[in-house]
Amino acid sequence: MMELQDPSLLRDKCYINGAWADADSGETFAVTNPANGDVLASVPKMGETETLRAIQAAEDAFGPWKDKTAKERAQIMRKWFELIMENQRDLALLMTLEQGKPLAEAMGEVAYGASFVEWFAEECKRIYGDTIPEHLPGRRLVVTKEPIGVVAAITPWNFPIAMITRKCAPAIAAGCTVVIKPAEDTPLSAFALAELAERAGIPKGVMNIVSGIPQQIGKALTESKAIRKLTFTGSTPVGKLLMKQCADTVKKTSMELGGNAPFIVFDDADLDAAVEGAMMSKFRNAGQTCVCSNRILVQEGIYEAFAQKLVEKTAALKVAPGIEDGAQQGPLINAAASSKVSELIDDAVSKGAKTEIGGNPHDLGGTFFEPTVITGVTDDMRIFSEEIFGPVAPLYKFKTEDEAVKMANDTPFGLAAYFYSRDIGRVWRVSRALEYGIVGINEGIISNEVAPFGGVKESGVGREGSKYGMEDFLEIKYLCMGGI
Ligand code: ADP
Repeated sequence: MMELQDPSLLRDKCYINGAWADADSGETFAVTNPANGDVLASVPKMGETETLRAIQAAEDAFGPWKDKTAKERAQIMRKWFELIMENQRDLALLMTLEQGKPLAEAMGEVAYGASFVEWFAEECKRIYGDTIPEHLPGRRLVVTKEPIGVVAAITPWNFPIAMITRKCAPAIAAGCTVVIKPAEDTPLSAFALAELAERAGIPKGVMNIVSGIPQQIGKALTESKAIRKLTFTGSTPVGKLLMKQCADTVKKTSMELGGNAPFIVFDDADLDAAVEGAMMSKFRNAGQTCVCSNRILVQEGIYEAFAQKLVEKTAALKVAPGIEDGAQQGPLINAAASSKVSELIDDAVSKGAKTEIGGNPHDLGGTFFEPTVITGVTDDMRIFSEEIFGPVAPLYKFKTEDEAVKMANDTPFGLAAYFYSRDIGRVWRVSRALEYGIVGINEGIISNEVAPFGGVKESGVGREGSKYGMEDFLEIKYLCMGGI
């Protein structure tokens, strides 16, 4: 089916308590290649009972894992990082086959995903506590940080490896154990990561993976008293549902939900840099990321020039199956994604927007979609308030800085925002005015392992990556010592 250098990285079973497992019912579901519909593998369709077993395994493994020294955990994680990088190409190939993104992008994601493992392996040696000057004589006040406990991680299909490592690396580094539910579209990347984790020496039960029926697995994870934290990346409606489900056991949650990223280009911007940034932030992963520019706001003085250059660059994008040489945009994940993109374009055009390029399903068929630029878009169109998750760049025209900031903030979401300007006063003003967790300034690519990723408003709670990302998996314990 595919030429993996190491065919044993293609695993089609779940991973519970250090063993590869089938569903109790024996049922499976198919994982398909979005570029051609081929079935790549059949994987276990698990539900509540198997999830409870995985939780039990994680609970049993928690004590010994947290009691290891940070250095011991760091060494095992370092090995895991090295194995991921040694198998970068195989992991990328698996990812391209099940997810669709171009191989070059998949290679990038494997490195990006691995960087969290490396970073948190290093960071866990620096989980410091505090001492507090006593408030009364004969007391000593000490603050320690402890791993939160067993963690549930539910991840999406758009970054099949990085969304797992961004959650599991800090959790495992902190001393937690995890039960992961990957997206149904992309479980093979998750299983391959588990295979490498096992080879690296991550003990059984520390990292478990169950695939299957989301509602059942989600219910078991959220109802469990053993699980102390849920970390989720996905859509806002599912995030809200999971937060509600977590309320009964008062679990901590980290939520990376939807975005509606504005990309603002001011008259004083470096035009070519802005076009370049817009291309990267818009069309990466065929527009299927939560930080992809969703609304491109351009000041009237450079609107025409910007639009023209963006259309030229968009016309040059190579749409092809991800495994083809030079592919820059693969298929969308599934048919529903493609019809949603069509609907949003149709709605905008029916209300007066103009398609400058693209606008239709691609001649390649299936879920391939033409890279699209539409102009004359306004805030009464659905595309202004809905996450596109596809290769469509909608251009809005604005006159003043105030108007741009107001439009940018006119959304319940607050994940990433971008703006281009060379005016230092404006840079500081707009940075402060944007209600977003992440702001790219003259920069279209903002994610990395050393910086905090996360949103405000309905885009989520918590931060991933960086020193802040570790905090999300730690509890503070305060020791008040008397009788001294
Ligand atoms: P997307 O639109 O990106 O697929 P979803 O929020 O539907 O976003 O999916 C993100 C993750 O959430 C996936 O792993 C999916 O299986 C999971 N999921 C969806 N619904 C539920 C649910 N009711 N309970 C638990 N997990 C769910």
